[in-house]
Amino acid sequence: MTSATPPLSNLLKDHPDAIAALVCAILVLLGWQTLAMGWIGVGLFILTAAYVIGGFDSARDGITTLLDEKELDVDLLMIVAALGAAGLGLWQQDYYLMVDGGVLILIFAISGALEGYAMRRTERSIQGLMSLTTDTARVIVQGRETQVAIAALQIGDQVLVKPGELVPTDGIVVEGSSTLNQASITGESMPTEKSIGDEVFAGTLNGSGALQLRIHQPPESSLIQRVIRLVQQAQQDAPPSQQFIERFERGYAKVIVGAGIILGTLPPFLMGWSWEETIYRALIFLVVASPCALMASIMPALLSGIANGARHGILFKNGAQLEKLGNVQAIAFDKTGTLTTGNLQVVDSLAVPHQSPDQVLRIAAALESLSEHPIGAAIVQAARQQHLTWTTASQGQAQAGRGIVGTVDQQPALVGNATFVRSHLPHLDPTLIAQSQQWEAEGNTVVWVAHGGKLLGIIAVADTVRPAAAAAIAQLKAMGIKHIVMLTGDNSRTAHHIAQNIGVDQVYADLLPEGKVSVIKQLQTQYQTVAMVGDGINDAPALAQASVGIAMGLSGSDVALETADTILMADRLEHLERAIRLGRRAQSVVKQNIAFALFFIMVLLIANFMGNITLPLGVLGHEGSTVIVTLSGLRLLRG
Ligand code: ADP
Ligand code: MG
Repeated sequence: MTSATPPLSNLLKDHPDAIAALVCAILVLLGWQTLAMGWIGVGLFILTAAYVIGGFDSARDGITTLLDEKELDVDLLMIVAALGAAGLGLWQQDYYLMVDGGVLILIFAISGALEGYAMRRTERSIQGLMSLTTDTARVIVQGRETQVAIAALQIGDQVLVKPGELVPTDGIVVEGSSTLNQASITGESMPTEKSIGDEVFAGTLNGSGALQLRIHQPPESSLIQRVIRLVQQAQQDAPPSQQFIERFERGYAKVIVGAGIILGTLPPFLMGWSWEETIYRALIFLVVASPCALMASIMPALLSGIANGARHGILFKNGAQLEKLGNVQAIAFDKTGTLTTGNLQVVDSLAVPHQSPDQVLRIAAALESLSEHPIGAAIVQAARQQHLTWTTASQGQAQAGRGIVGTVDQQPALVGNATFVRSHLPHLDPTLIAQSQQWEAEGNTVVWVAHGGKLLGIIAVADTVRPAAAAAIAQLKAMGIKHIVMLTGDNSRTAHHIAQNIGVDQVYADLLPEGKVSVIKQLQTQYQTVAMVGDGINDAPALAQASVGIAMGLSGSDVALETADTILMADRLEHLERAIRLGRRAQSVVKQNIAFALFFIMVLLIANFMGNITLPLGVLGHEGSTVIVTLSGLRLLRG
């Protein structure tokens, strides 16, 4: 913000369509007055200028569509109708018809400007993300600070973030503590405490403490960069609903032109109308039958809804998904990382005789260093805290929902759940089995570790349920979601313990990623529209299968973020309620708009057929209804 009154050049740059509409309005009024005073030449000149200024954008768009895609669209119809009115006016020397055409162009320009406004609001709230990225970071090399371009940062670099600065890229705090404002990515300006070991995100604002970060992933895969890419992608692919309406528009436009030509040529022969009357009615027909209001029923509303969501930390990748969310009847939640924090802690371990718990942890850490799974992170962290050293496994292979295999110290090694380990080593130690069952009944996840073809031991990992999970689920139930389930790859003892106080209707455990997909399919046969909320790689297939896939933004894996249609940026389950409400509101606004638009088109068509309306009235009715549905869509910006 530089000054209170933006210079004209800025205003022009930001709102060219609004300015064009304003100028067009002034010229139409002026031209009309001039005609009324009898200065025909000047009036026609002014009105011509109004046509050019108000209609330039539409004409350009319409002609581009015609030339590039050999298709007619509504833009072109409007221009043709306006020019038709002008032509008829000149021919019959009834110059006020030129004012009618001008009003048509004017109102079309106004509704275009309103639509542009909704679109820009959406883009701006999403681009808010992009403005919060910095170009350089302060890298600490041998105790000295140098400015390095973000793109040149390497994993392992130490970066200093001074108080009040934007975090340049995602990293782990290695020194200092501070409170950060994460509003740029989560939509919430609640300060968040960060200290050693915590992850901080690019684009968030540092508070009063200086932080030193270690970069743990390439800068281009920071959360904010991933989201920016996703949004750019989403803006490129038109959502299906929009594609549908565009196809509809083009088909419809052809029908109208065809009907318009018939109406403009046959009546003098069939019904004895005068040519003037015939062309006049045909022009009115062109205007009132155009589906502008219908077209404006959907996108402004959905874009407004998307902008609203973005303001509250809910990212909808497209409008169609927003609408679908309004229909959700059943929701499936992943357990680890979704209903729970995914901030796992190693709480205990047990080795087979003649093996030490440290060795168990060491081998596990060597494999888990390769893993993106929260269990892996917990094990690596515990091994670090014990000051163990290890070389990362080679030939590591993660098997989603099971564990990892690889080579450690030249020997085959594996870590994973009991079923997975059993598929390699059929006989598990009974003492370990007994201990693992007890740990599981207490809600821990048990990880089995084997090395060199022998079982080494087990590690218990504890997870905590997200504090808001139970309340969020209660809210969803209260708003009428019929069925809520938990899906997990974890075993059923642990799963049931975790599910105990959350209020889910059913627990599905021991699921491989494909298993999650089949549960979703099964739910879809019963509840049609089913949402899946997840964070992991193992959730991605189910997120894709679900009618609406929802990913956790802060903690979600890349694949989950890419597959999902909607992202809860702040990882807050309680935002689901808002998201679904927004979906329902969007749906009802769109329905109201469509009903209203269709009704108006019918009324105007009938009135025209009965010969009861004039061109200005037709234009006013038609464009008025377009403006009304557009404004009605903008309602979704609020709340
Ligand atoms: P969830 O569905 O709850 O998110 P996953 O499907 O990711 O869980 O994992 C299911 C189970 O597979 C885990 O509970 C764990 O026992 C095992 N597992 C998966 N990945 C790993 C890993 N990297 N290390 C150890 N165990 C793993
Ligand atoms: Mg998970």
